[in-house]
Amino acid sequence: MGLAAAVGFALLFTCSALITHRIELFGSGFNGLWPAGGLPIVWLMVRGATVVSIDSVLLLAAAFAANLVAGGETELAAAFAVANFAQSWAAVMLLRRWCGDLWGCGGDRPIARPRDVARLGAALGVATLIGTTLATAAVVLLPGVNGSFDPVASGLWTGRNFASALVVVALAILIGYRVTSPPPRPSLRGADGGQLELLVAVLFTITTYGLAFSLVELPLAFPLLAASVWFGARFSTLLSAAHSCVVGLVTGLLTLNDIGPFANVADTDLGFMIAQFYVATIALTGLAIATGRDERQALATDLRQAQEEAGYEVSMRAAVIGSMIEGVLVVDEAGDLLVHNPAAARILGLGDELDTESQFALSSWTLDGQELAEDERPTSRALRGETVESELVLVRVADVGERVLTISAIPLPRDEVQHRARALLLLRDTTTEHAHREELAAFAGVVAHDLRNPLAAIDGWTEMIADELDAGELDTQLAREFVSRVRSSSRRMRELIRDLLAHATSSSRDLDVSRVEVTALATEVAAARHASGQVSAEPVPPVLADPVLVRQVLDNLIGNAIKYVAPGEEPKIVVQGCRSDARLVTVEVVDHGIGIPEQDREKVFDEFHRAHYREYEGSGLGLSIVRRIVIRHGGTIQAVPNPAGQGSVFRFTLPAYEA
Ligand code: ADP
Repeated sequence: MGLAAAVGFALLFTCSALITHRIELFGSGFNGLWPAGGLPIVWLMVRGATVVSIDSVLLLAAAFAANLVAGGETELAAAFAVANFAQSWAAVMLLRRWCGDLWGCGGDRPIARPRDVARLGAALGVATLIGTTLATAAVVLLPGVNGSFDPVASGLWTGRNFASALVVVALAILIGYRVTSPPPRPSLRGADGGQLELLVAVLFTITTYGLAFSLVELPLAFPLLAASVWFGARFSTLLSAAHSCVVGLVTGLLTLNDIGPFANVADTDLGFMIAQFYVATIALTGLAIATGRDERQALATDLRQAQEEAGYEVSMRAAVIGSMIEGVLVVDEAGDLLVHNPAAARILGLGDELDTESQFALSSWTLDGQELAEDERPTSRALRGETVESELVLVRVADVGERVLTISAIPLPRDEVQHRARALLLLRDTTTEHAHREELAAFAGVVAHDLRNPLAAIDGWTEMIADELDAGELDTQLAREFVSRVRSSSRRMRELIRDLLAHATSSSRDLDVSRVEVTALATEVAAARHASGQVSAEPVPPVLADPVLVRQVLDNLIGNAIKYVAPGEEPKIVVQGCRSDARLVTVEVVDHGIGIPEQDREKVFDEFHRAHYREYEGSGLGLSIVRRIVIRHGGTIQAVPNPAGQGSVFRFTLPAYEA
């Protein structure tokens, strides 16, 4: 397969040399019109040949044969074959070195940049000069030839080979790339030029060349260049190279046959030489213009893509930052606010008006109310390069008051344009969390205290029992007394623990609402407390509430009403209710007990607050549980004096079932 391809190339090369030789029979008699100069280079490139290979042998043989047939003497034909061989190999090696990323030269891309054209031209130019030098040296130095140095002949060799190599190699690279690249391939016409324009450009070429080659008395060579510029500027690089190839061939052939402006020179060889350089010029011009345009278009495409990507990135970043629950701020050391999200503005109570000044409102106080010095603020610390993690600070927000924020501050890379340090601040409004934590801590303190009291009593009484036992003085009466005190203390502890559990579940339990008949529930609670005779339950409109929690409310209120009566007095309780508005039902638990002093009427709903702690036992949690439950249902509760004179009325609202 490899050998067949090499032989194929050798035959093609020999034939092209012979054909051009035959054509020249009609012309000036000079051998070697292109493409013979470019073909061996393409051959070695396509085959990826090495210097020591069958291709080299065949190339040498074919060049020798072609030069012989073209009418040279044996010695000169051999010398020219060596010059052809050296020139072709020099071109291939330089192309592999200077244009290694182009198709056929070791890479896989087409000629697409003016830099490619310059390197291609330089490689082929240097190779052609090597060939010229060798051929000229052979003519001058070979004893059998004994020629003299003829600058026109050397120029002719150079021009012919350079023009041929440039046009043929450029075309081969462009075609090779196009054929081997996977579809879909771009249009052969290029992105700019349409079909009609192509037709007009072809007609323009034919007309200008027709005129320039027929009206030789007039210096009409200059419009010819316009056709190459047109093709280079408007059509694909491949089409532009093909155009150069066709007009180059036509120019060469016509000049050889003494037609046209280049044949109009007195010395035919000189004219032909000028024609060859003209072909090289239009080929280079066309390629340079086409690749320049390609490069610009590629840059524009890259730029557009980069812009689209940047736009996408920006919108993505804005969406992410905008949807964060945490407040995000980026500030620099000059105090400029560079980035902020709606959450930050919301947390700082500033609506959307967060601006450079606003960030100074941040992080000014510690939780115990001490103002932070400027350089102790999380922002300042992060701007100095320190990372601040979840620090609690107090901010005073206009119209809103104090807020507890958890702030993290992270140093960002410096702004190298403005030479400023930057920092990222993450804010979380932890005011409620903080209040809960505080409340929990206080609660735990009271719980510990209240549990310790009965425990201390149990300890004390059991110790006395032990002492009496040791002394052998414990009579049954005394033992009974001590045991009853211990049991009373442990009962108090049990009740406190029960109330604590009820307190915890009153806020954590999920509401499971349904139609609740308050009257029936109140009757049940009274029965369970063996107080049916003391509680009268009047009709109350049905409510939409959690029955378990409403039972807890009634149990606490009825329990208190039974408990808080003067000693020896019989409790008398009424549960009644009515629709207070379209949405709510008001329920009242009315008693005739000891009443609540005015200053305690609101405080009794706080945890552990007791108005009658000396005379009556209790944990001080019942009413706080009641208030929590009512509030969770969207209602309110208050304690007022009984208008009938003695006792209290606990009045609360719950959602009406029929609302
Ligand atoms: P406890 O009854 O365990 O002390 P509560 O939270 O139920 O705790 O009540 C808080 C305080 O409110 C009681 O200590 C008592 O002083 C007062 N109180 C509650 N209900 C009544 C009532 N019906 N009459 C008079 N005082 C009451």
